[in-house]
Amino acid sequence: MSELRQRFYIEDCPIRGEVVHLEKVLQTILAQRDYPQAIEVLLGEMLSATALLASTLKIKGRISLQIQAAGTFKWAMAECDHLGQLRASADYQEDPRFAEGTDSSTVLKALVSPVLFINIEPEVGERYQGIIALERDTLAGCLMQYYDLSAQIPTKIRLASTAQRAGGLLIQLLPRNSEEEQQRVDEDLWPRLTLLTETLKAQELIELDATEILYRLYNEEEVRLPEVELLSFGCTCSKDRCANALIHIGAEAVRETLEFQNPITMDCQFCSTRYTFTAEEALGLFGKHLS
Ligand SMILES: [Zn+2]
Repeated sequence: MSELRQRFYIEDCPIRGEVVHLEKVLQTILAQRDYPQAIEVLLGEMLSATALLASTLKIKGRISLQIQAAGTFKWAMAECDHLGQLRASADYQEDPRFAEGTDSSTVLKALVSPVLFINIEPEVGERYQGIIALERDTLAGCLMQYYDLSAQIPTKIRLASTAQRAGGLLIQLLPRNSEEEQQRVDEDLWPRLTLLTETLKAQELIELDATEILYRLYNEEEVRLPEVELLSFGCTCSKDRCANALIHIGAEAVRETLEFQNPITMDCQFCSTRYTFTAEEALGLFGKHLS
């Protein structure tokens, strides 16, 4: 099994974590466009990261990571919902620097005026948007810094990806229940587990099964494994959402578009589904305002 998220707990300790693996989901997403290697690897890491972060949410809804930049790399987005459905896409101009890369640092280094957002969209309730500083070489480094500074939850994250397979591991130190526990965990167990986490090679994270990774790293502890969660490719696009986008740009812009494109076609950047609006349908969205 490869499209999965495996939660784990260290018995009798305020430490939890997740391992994710993506294979077909990643390949399906990367097949939407002819991405160069460095961008494939970045998207693989972003997908693993959103799958890891989604596991920390206690709400129904979606979490996404979004990079925006001003140079040849325009944007990238990866999203995961509470059902484990993932999607991702990126937009960029040709750049020889993107031709090869083994981790997210290749693209991160090439970004001009970049911003990395973390978005949480609950089905009910208020949206949250945080900004993550891009001050570390890799995506995992940036996310760990964010957790340390903003969420103040000690967190270790490892991410790795090729064009075929991606993997991620997150381990977090939760609030301790007593001073005795705090001393025992903070001074011994947590530093030891984070050091072990760093020893995992990227190739091992990508290729080994979740249970094997956990055994290799933490076999001195009692690791408890709840049932795995399955991950899948899923897009949330719909004709209604496209209609909302047309309403958003306004009747005037829609009329102008119809002069050179009739019917209006809109291709989803995440799944390539094509939505078509005849002139009547498109203008009908504006109802009485048009007459
Ligand atoms: Zn779609």
